[in-house]
Amino acid sequence: MRFKLDCAMKLSKPVEADIKEIIASAADLLKKGAPDGEGAVIEKCGISGDEIQMTITSGRYVRPHNAVFRLKNHLCAELGKRYKVGVREIHGKRYTIEFELENEPKKEIKIPYAEVSFSGKKCKLDIKNVDENFLQDNFADRMINLVKEKADAELYEGKGEHWELLWEGKKRDYKWAKDPTKEMEKLGWIMHRGRGQWIFGPTVTRIIKTFESIVVDELIKPLGFEEVIIPKAVTWDVWKRSGHAKSIYPEVYFLCPPQTRDKEFWEDITDEFKITGEVPAEKIKEKIKAPIGGVSYAQCPPLWPYFAGKTIADDSLPIKVFDRSGPSMRYESGGIHGIERVDEFHRIEIVWIDKEEKLMETHAKLLEAYRHIFNDILLLEWRIARVTPWFMAQEGMIGVSEKKDVGTTDFESYLPYKGRDSPWLEFQNLSNNGDKYPKGFNVKAQHGELWSGCTGIGLERWLATFTAQHGLDPAGWPKEFAKRAGKLPDGIKFL
Ligand code: ATP
Ligand code: ZN
Ligand code: MG
Repeated sequence: MRFKLDCAMKLSKPVEADIKEIIASAADLLKKGAPDGEGAVIEKCGISGDEIQMTITSGRYVRPHNAVFRLKNHLCAELGKRYKVGVREIHGKRYTIEFELENEPKKEIKIPYAEVSFSGKKCKLDIKNVDENFLQDNFADRMINLVKEKADAELYEGKGEHWELLWEGKKRDYKWAKDPTKEMEKLGWIMHRGRGQWIFGPTVTRIIKTFESIVVDELIKPLGFEEVIIPKAVTWDVWKRSGHAKSIYPEVYFLCPPQTRDKEFWEDITDEFKITGEVPAEKIKEKIKAPIGGVSYAQCPPLWPYFAGKTIADDSLPIKVFDRSGPSMRYESGGIHGIERVDEFHRIEIVWIDKEEKLMETHAKLLEAYRHIFNDILLLEWRIARVTPWFMAQEGMIGVSEKKDVGTTDFESYLPYKGRDSPWLEFQNLSNNGDKYPKGFNVKAQHGELWSGCTGIGLERWLATFTAQHGLDPAGWPKEFAKRAGKLPDGIKFL
């Protein structure tokens, strides 16, 4: 690794000083913390008027973007004492960084703020004109990591996420093998509206609400979870801390407030609509602010500001809450899917927080409750697989966590209309998220380490699973379910 920084330090006033001598006296300072013979070196320095220019080089230790601040402090002390002069600001004119990767990348790699070039495995970053913040905030180190990350990503491209079967339930026979979305549309139970969004009429809503009541009766109440209302408009600060800010942009429904709520500012838009009957969306684009965030994506992250920066009392543990206060949205890829893959979906999100060593106790109870629901009430054919943890996948990573017990299990269902050779449908997951959230949001326990878990019950996915396996006629439904659903609403007759 080689670093070379050409930079300038602006002084509070011009000074005639023996700058070489002052800087030479900082030589030891630039080696502090580095192994023998390593550390930063001042290759060149000079002063003209109120500006000191210098070139700093280093290997792996005491990189110039750190060394320059050690020098700044040293100069401030020395120049202050001798001439009553201070250092105003640092400007990086050119910063070149050379390092070696494990493998030569096949594709061109681009990153912001630098020209990236390769000669075999050797990478060179050429960075021009950077301010003090760039240097102080370690942008350079993160740029090196980003190049490495992109090169590594090439290696596992196309490999997909981790998938490992943990348990598979009983194979069942199905008399019905139709696509429930199409059948429910024919019956007028559901209607497709816009992109990946459905209106669920009274009959199908009864089915969804029956799922909810089963979850409440068999899982939420017996395990003692309390209901909360989590915001559905998620601001960047949340996704910065949850890690989602690393990757979710292609799937986000962005939230943009108006530039102002002044009526006059919007008059041309309202006038245009009154005349043409069309909403001038392109003109609206000019009148809104940059997005402040997006619509709920993973549902639990925007709960965490509630705990951020706080210490949770031992007798409040485990915290057990759930949210079903509104939809999540994702800009899903490609044409229209059925109800199993929608842009706007409804999920019961269950979250628990406990001491590291106790987290799996609730996890085990949840799993037991799910087994009971799927095996004894909904009579599903389903399986459980260990997959890449959702919080890693949503940050663009693959693989599994190295920490024992940490990770995601997906619950998957067989869809008879797709056939035995087709992929199964992930209808929910159950995750031990480790210390990810307490760390990200700086939440502490009175004693010991806090961990958290969550499980997201995708109601559209439950609906898709249940109706694909059991059809739409209550006569063919599992008795326990039909009893809880009661007599279905007649539905609306359209003439
Ligand atoms: P998939 O691989 O099917 O897209 P995912 O890995 O993106 O799912 P997660 O991010 O783990 O899903 O989301 C948790 C749960 O939220 C899923 O198990 C599912 O129940 C629900 N969910 C996610 N995306 C959708 C969607 N587009 N439509 C309906 N439900 C969804
Ligand atoms: Zn969650
Ligand atoms: Mg997805």
